[in-house]
Amino acid sequence: MSYFKKGKPFIIAGPCSAETQTQILETAEALASLNIDLFRAGIWKPRTRPGAFEGNGVLALEWLAEVKSRYNLPVTIEVAETNHIEEALMNNIDVIWIGARTTVNPFQVQQLADALQGVSIPVMIKNPVNPDVDLWLGAIERFEKAGITNIAAIHRGFSSYNKQSGYRNQPNWTLPIELKRRRPELPIFCDPSHITGNRDMVAEVAQKAMDMRFDGLMIETHPRPEEAWTDAAQQITPYQLQELLTHLIIRQEFTEDMNSHTKLENLRLIMDSFDAEIIDIIARRMELSEEIGKVKKECNMTIYQPARWQEMLKTREERALKNNLHKDFIIELFEKLHNESIRIQLSVLESVLNEIKK
Ligand code: PEP
Ligand code: MN
Repeated sequence: MSYFKKGKPFIIAGPCSAETQTQILETAEALASLNIDLFRAGIWKPRTRPGAFEGNGVLALEWLAEVKSRYNLPVTIEVAETNHIEEALMNNIDVIWIGARTTVNPFQVQQLADALQGVSIPVMIKNPVNPDVDLWLGAIERFEKAGITNIAAIHRGFSSYNKQSGYRNQPNWTLPIELKRRRPELPIFCDPSHITGNRDMVAEVAQKAMDMRFDGLMIETHPRPEEAWTDAAQQITPYQLQELLTHLIIRQEFTEDMNSHTKLENLRLIMDSFDAEIIDIIARRMELSEEIGKVKKECNMTIYQPARWQEMLKTREERALKNNLHKDFIIELFEKLHNESIRIQLSVLESVLNEIKK
């Protein structure tokens, strides 16, 4: 059984950074009564610009040892260099995590994985800052190859030039979902604090993660968030965390309620028959494309005709809007259909060319 799978959401909470002994103990005391699974605190902080607070380093390890002994809470820190790993292991840190700025660098990840050969400590791996599932998976595989068996992924969003979206880091939910599809057994947590960068949005993103069956949450918590030395805008108080957790709706993949079960089954049957119809119609549309390809070939017309394509998009878009369908969705769908049509028409031309060559 994975360290991270408890049959309920795995909750990691604690401050962005370990600032002072009092701040750490005050936060831990409040969080211990909330039954969280792991206490987090950054002791080496990766800062975007130089000159900012970069963490208390090894000094803070003593404070975390106190959290363990006083409140019986397991603790986790971010490691980015091999000496961080050595310190973590010497000081009985229970779990380590790899930050987003480290996951991007395969050399660095490999060094960290090598430092863990023969060690059994659970490792959590944040997504790289850029939206690349393979790079994320690659980091996970490097630790697996080093013999680490307890691994969890953390979705913390992706950097973007577009800051108007309201998120500090874009959630791009399709990426963590793709990771889940490729590695269904791997626990995946969500870090709504770094995704939103804004404490008012943390609960809403945490709920979204639960709706998508994430296995847990990492949430930055501080006794006085507005005074925090790092990430002040996104941290919440332990009381706010308690509120968030009590209001969190945990959804199941299956339901025991027979009524809802039957209702869902019936709706899915109808959906299956709609999908079958959609596929049959697409097949007929492609047959038509082949016919069109032949006509165009006979009259020496180009396969791609921009005016016709513009006209098509316009009418499809109008119809979509009348049916309350999202415009971008329909455009994307028709772009895919149109590309396939072009491929078919090109192959009509090619088969004719082959005939001529014979
Ligand atoms: C953090 O958890 O405080 C942190 C620095 O996270 P990330 O690596 O996601 O930026
Ligand atoms: Mn932070």
